[in-house]
Amino acid sequence: MRIKADFDLCESNAICVGMAPDFFDLDDDDYLVILQEEIPADRVEELRQVAANCPKSALSVEED
Ligand code: SF4
Repeated sequence: MRIKADFDLCESNAICVGMAPDFFDLDDDDYLVILQEEIPADRVEELRQVAANCPKSALSVEED
């Protein structure tokens, strides 16, 4: 499974960064950076929760 982001929807409020800082970061210009797209099997549910908590619905967990 992979995490995908719609960068046009993201408003850089860093909620995902706070929930999973090894997957998400903001760069110096406050743009979202995906640190790793591939999700280990034991973290898929956690990343689904992160996606569900994005207030802009900018994140999704998708099949490879
Ligand atoms: S939680 Fe959503 S809107 Fe906020 S930084 Fe992450 S992807 Fe962007």
